Amino acid sequence: MSAKILDAKGLKFKLWTYFVLFAAGIMVVLWLLQIIFLNTFYQSMKLHQLESIGNRMVAAYGSDDFEETLFDTSYRNGLMIRIYDEAGNRISNADIFSDFRDPHNAGRDELYEMKERLAQSGSDRVAFINGSNRMGGGAHVAVFAAQLCAADGSPIYLNISTPLAPVDATTQVLQNQLLIVTALSLLFGFILSYFIARRMSDPLTRLTHTAAQLATGDYGVEFEKGGYTEINELADALNYTTQELSKTNELRRDLVANVSHDLRTPLTIIKSYAEMIRDLSGNNPEKRAAHTQVIIDEADRLSALVSDLLDLSRMESGTAPMEPSVFDLSETTRRMVQRFDVLAEGEGFTFSVHCVPDAMVEADESRMEQVIYNLISNAVNYTGADKRVSVSVTSADGHVHFEVTDTGKGIPPEELGQIWERYYRAGSKTNRRGTKGTGIGLAIVKNILAVHHARYGVHSEVGHGSTFWFELDAK
Ligand code: ADP
Repeated sequence: MSAKILDAKGLKFKLWTYFVLFAAGIMVVLWLLQIIFLNTFYQSMKLHQLESIGNRMVAAYGSDDFEETLFDTSYRNGLMIRIYDEAGNRISNADIFSDFRDPHNAGRDELYEMKERLAQSGSDRVAFINGSNRMGGGAHVAVFAAQLCAADGSPIYLNISTPLAPVDATTQVLQNQLLIVTALSLLFGFILSYFIARRMSDPLTRLTHTAAQLATGDYGVEFEKGGYTEINELADALNYTTQELSKTNELRRDLVANVSHDLRTPLTIIKSYAEMIRDLSGNNPEKRAAHTQVIIDEADRLSALVSDLLDLSRMESGTAPMEPSVFDLSETTRRMVQRFDVLAEGEGFTFSVHCVPDAMVEADESRMEQVIYNLISNAVNYTGADKRVSVSVTSADGHVHFEVTDTGKGIPPEELGQIWERYYRAGSKTNRRGTKGTGIGLAIVKNILAVHHARYGVHSEVGHGSTFWFELDAK
């Protein structure tokens, strides 16, 4: 585990920074709202409230229960509501506190102020904040004033006011509270981010360690899942990679074993036959011819093996260019089967061939020959004692379908997925006919078919035989 406590680029530090910044940001907003703008907010809220009540009163003016509405509104909202005539006399006065806050001459001052504000606003109603001159001190009053028209046509004035509570004291209290909240939230942000960061980074650190172990060649490692989905997915992906890596590693080992075995056997045979010719059969033309033939055959096998390996590596690296042309797959298939005629005659193999005419496809013909040859050759190598192999080319639904079936002992389902892999040879090698085969035939087939975007597969029943098939678009 990383011993570094403060790594500025580390997840822990970053998370911690974000958390603290977040908390600080929220605090700043709170401070601004609560301390700096509290008064402004409060005043505009009050004015708004007054305005909407005032508008309702103006609308209700003239109705029968207007007086009652005035009193009711005053009582409910703690407002002073007064109506003056042009001369400054109060026509109605709805003020629950009127008894103890009503200095003399207030009416006329109020009326004067109202008229002035109305004139300034150029409208018949206005809301404003006024330094109170009735209650003295620095208290402010929110006022709504409107000019109405009495029954006789003379102007009358509606005045609704409410004192504004001083917010300084509140601000002080809030300030103290906010100080505590700020300190606490920063502290919690600090602690919380530390734990969250640990929870997030610990599994990552563990994965890193396991990966380092894997890099030393230990394929037995297991990437540990932990905590959250992304890590679990990463661990799964890494475990899968490890599996694949170890498979490749195994295959590589097998390759060395297989190839060296496959190379050594013919080389040994070649050497011993050459020695035999030198020491024994050199003067006997018949024996010499037979022995040289063995040498030639083995040399052929060697060169086939080498060219298979080359082919595969060229195809896998993508350096073998494809040369597509349109041709009849049935023709090609028949030609390929003919190559096995020697076996049919000499070793008693029976080939049953069923090919529809005009199975035109567009592909690289020589590559397709290789596919067909490899598949038939496998069927020959693995077919049962009856030595039967059937090959067919059919066409349907715009596809040309090739298949080759043998009567061998089949492939167990658990090995079906692997036989297409390089150097993979299923089961024991004892049930194969001859020693031909390098474990790369099907890998070559798979590569060629994949390049042609062909569909392909195998059905196999243990004890009954296998059918390998592929399908190309018809032309
Ligand atoms: P090989 O040179 O060993 O035949 P391939 O790549 O052609 O290599 O095939 C891989 C393995 O798949 C073979 O070793 C064999 O176990 C299995 N296999 C391929 N074709 C058949 C078949 N027709 N019947 C049974 N097993 C087969």
